[in-house]
Amino acid sequence: MLNVEEFSISTLNCLKKVTGDSPVILHEPEFSGNEWKYLKECLDTGFVSSVGKFVDRFEADLAAYTGSKYAVAVVNGTSALHIALKLAGVLPGDEVLIPSLTFVATANAVSYCGAIPHFVESESVHLGIDPLPLREYLKSITEIRNGQTINRETNRVIRAIVPMHTFGHPVLINEISAVAKDYHLALVEDAAESLGSYYYGKHTGTFGQFGVLSFNGNKTITTGGGGAILTQDENMAKHAKHITTTAKIPHRWEYVHDEIAYNYRMPNINAALGCAQLEQLPSFLESKRSLFKKYKEALETVSGVSLMEEPKNCKSNYWLQTLILSEDFQSARDSILKVTNDNGIMTRPCWRLLHTLSPFQNCPKMELPIALSLEQRLINIPSSPSLVS
Ligand SMILES: *Cc1c(COP(=O)(O)O)cnc(C)c1O
Repeated sequence: MLNVEEFSISTLNCLKKVTGDSPVILHEPEFSGNEWKYLKECLDTGFVSSVGKFVDRFEADLAAYTGSKYAVAVVNGTSALHIALKLAGVLPGDEVLIPSLTFVATANAVSYCGAIPHFVESESVHLGIDPLPLREYLKSITEIRNGQTINRETNRVIRAIVPMHTFGHPVLINEISAVAKDYHLALVEDAAESLGSYYYGKHTGTFGQFGVLSFNGNKTITTGGGGAILTQDENMAKHAKHITTTAKIPHRWEYVHDEIAYNYRMPNINAALGCAQLEQLPSFLESKRSLFKKYKEALETVSGVSLMEEPKNCKSNYWLQTLILSEDFQSARDSILKVTNDNGIMTRPCWRLLHTLSPFQNCPKMELPIALSLEQRLINIPSSPSLVS
């Protein structure tokens, strides 16, 4: 068996077979379609901000692409999560079940509602919430009173669950939906990373009451910054639009606002970029899939490291390619991170588990052995679609 140093160097050399020798970053956007044309149109007509046709078009295009009945565009994925949770009925003092292995935005959005994140375990095939231990756990710590699930240890209502499709790989959403149903939990999918990913042919983000997308600069498509709320419920879609646009009652000149609301509307100029990016999504997805194949082939020669692969019955967008170290080599993570970054290949560990971060240290949580193990063994590697073209 190779020592840690030898193992890290062979991993680096395998990655280089795909990335070449010049420096590469983790994920860079590609603007090879109608971006200039649509942006120019915004500038030429003066419609850069809260009025213009691209917002409506982007929302319609997103709904069509994902098969969601409605899509509401907002300023970023975090605000989309905030509003989705609020409209799903999350109240101050509630608990919301989220994986510990996710980006901090998931927990922050729960906190914006005045609610408390309650961290749950992940599993290692999909990298998302594991429905099996979750069900056992809820059975042991909750009781159902008046159709609400009460955490007997904290006496708070557990109101919702937010599965996240990690790095674009769909979670076991049907099984998680079933747990949500049995425990009267609202289901909000954090599909920020999974535009273009499907579970049994159905697009991620369309299973729950709400789904949330992100178009940050490092995501599969970008609007600079941006997000969207997906829902199948017309009234919820209308409410989401209203509450993200200052709750202004339409009128030719009067300023009447009928609830405390948010200025979360996506500007037209960002939506213009989004329309152009969405047109190229199928080709980005194809490139990302071929990139996966190239890495897989390159890595075949080293044992102890494998590549995260789309789970059964899933179609993954392969947003971020991910190395998985075997348990034998988990001590090599930091050495691989160092040797790759030193050599111009940008790599990142997965996020620090959220229950260990200072703002969330005192939040309730399950036992998390798998999440802890995954945290030690996952490394994201360069994933831009341009790497194959
Ligand atoms: C990117 C991301 C978000 C949203 O991020 P924004 O930068 O606010 O658009 C939310 N959750 C996860 C898991 C993400 O990766």
